[in-house]
Amino acid sequence: MIDHRRLGRELDLFVSDPLAGAGLPIWLPAGAAARHAVEEYVRELERRSGHQHVYSPPLGKRELFELSGHLGYFADDMFPPMRLSADDEFVLRPALCPHHALVFRARGRSYRELPLRVAELGGMYRSERSGVLGGLSRVRAISLNDAHTFCAPEQVGAEVAEILGLIREAHAALGVRPAGFRLSLRGPGEKYVGDDAQWARAEDLLRAALAGMEYVEAPGEAAFYGPKIDIQIVDAAGRESTISTIQLDFDKPERFDLSYTDSDGSRRRPVMVHRSLVGSMERLFAYLIEVHEGAFPAWYAPVQLVLLPVDDGQVDAAADLARQAVDVGLRVAVDVAGSLGARIRDAARRRVPYLGVLGAREAADGRLALRLRGGRALDPMPAADALALIGGQVAARSADLLPPD
Ligand SMILES: [Zn+2]
Repeated sequence: MIDHRRLGRELDLFVSDPLAGAGLPIWLPAGAAARHAVEEYVRELERRSGHQHVYSPPLGKRELFELSGHLGYFADDMFPPMRLSADDEFVLRPALCPHHALVFRARGRSYRELPLRVAELGGMYRSERSGVLGGLSRVRAISLNDAHTFCAPEQVGAEVAEILGLIREAHAALGVRPAGFRLSLRGPGEKYVGDDAQWARAEDLLRAALAGMEYVEAPGEAAFYGPKIDIQIVDAAGRESTISTIQLDFDKPERFDLSYTDSDGSRRRPVMVHRSLVGSMERLFAYLIEVHEGAFPAWYAPVQLVLLPVDDGQVDAAADLARQAVDVGLRVAVDVAGSLGARIRDAARRRVPYLGVLGAREAADGRLALRLRGGRALDPMPAADALALIGGQVAARSADLLPPD
């Protein structure tokens, strides 16, 4: 069976070391290169859609998480507070929303700034039981693709529709195939904030956004502060989890006393929309490793091109070409150790999308013979054309290794 933990080891993507702790994986250079490419893509998508990026620390004072409601409603999932002195306790954050509420509150806000979209790929922590941890799919240190939109109540519908569009675009680029949409609602019990009218209003807005789409309702799966649309994936073992989410929150704007000045000069309360396009980098990669069986699209492959000099006579030419490839932004390696056949097999094992074979004749007239992942060999072409071909597919973030005919 396909298992991202086994592939992660074979492809040197990440390691879980018991000395570091369960659920605290370490990203190795190959995994980090792939993740970096994906993070860049997500930031670019967010920038294009009017998000503003911030940085905030992964821990904060106890009082911040008392105010946000996390310590009251979510403490079971959090690490215990760290005490520096009697009146100085810190908490590893379980979510980014409290810090982003402070971004909104950093100065006075006008209706002209809304919707205000605050985005961050930030660290957060959950005290998962050690029995449920595995590879990247369930971790204790989480790097979340997160954003909070602060908007006027009448802007919520358009904002949710816009976010659904961004989620679809990100899924298509990465190769995520959702298993279904879920409307996550309150269940029986007392672990929710807010009054019934707020919940009904938020549910109506999300139902309207989902109109015409197929989805299931899931009582008991709401956030403690509001209902949400969850987009589900199923991993190779058949386990379902959430990869993307849109959540409506009328509560935190109250708790943090957030307000903006409306066009008539009155003060109004914004609505907070929590959303993640692709979830945490950990869960996303657990999924991507399995769905692609380690053979990522070229744009986020750890190494995009391996150059293989046929013998020692072409090593200098290969090094030269590698520098040109780096200069145009490609991730390239030169492999000189062992027989050509063994090096081709090794690159195939590592799922490298492009191989460039350099024999004496190619080196002499500046050409390169490209082989694609999967075995197809192209006729030798000018080396500059080969780099342009690869660069074009990478820049287009194409799922294919060749442009359309
Ligand atoms: Zn949030």
